[in-house]
Amino acid sequence: MTACLFCDIAAGKRKANLVYENDDVCAFRDISPQAPTHVLVIPRKHIATLNDLQEADADLMGKLMLAAKEVAAAEGLSAKGYRVVVNCNRDAGQTVFHIHLHVLGGRYLGWPPG
Ligand code: 5GP
Ligand code: ZN
Repeated sequence: MTACLFCDIAAGKRKANLVYENDDVCAFRDISPQAPTHVLVIPRKHIATLNDLQEADADLMGKLMLAAKEVAAAEGLSAKGYRVVVNCNRDAGQTVFHIHLHVLGGRYLGWPPG
């Protein structure tokens, strides 16, 4: 095991319910779902937070968003709607320091978030 939970999931060293993967990105169901669909989309590359993004990561983050779209479509959420969230650091409640998109849907999602 490495120090990073999500690096371990991306490397197949830790079990997860994978719903999508390609060379750069993988997606799996959140262990503590906050909506009927709650999938996490991560880059295989370790990037701790949004603050750590570099110019060179621009393509990769685009691929992350495209993967989120594919996951939403596969979950039947495209027309009804869904939310894609990145939590950054303490005030946003980030608990795993490997950047990830939350894809949430399957129920009405209130706004503003808590
Ligand atoms: P954050 O709060 O950092 O934005 O989101 C981290 C998410 O990772 C949380 O929603 C949490 O439930 C989820 N999570 C934490 N550990 C695991 C795990 O081992 N497996 C899976 N599938 N999800 C996890
Ligand atoms: Zn990592």
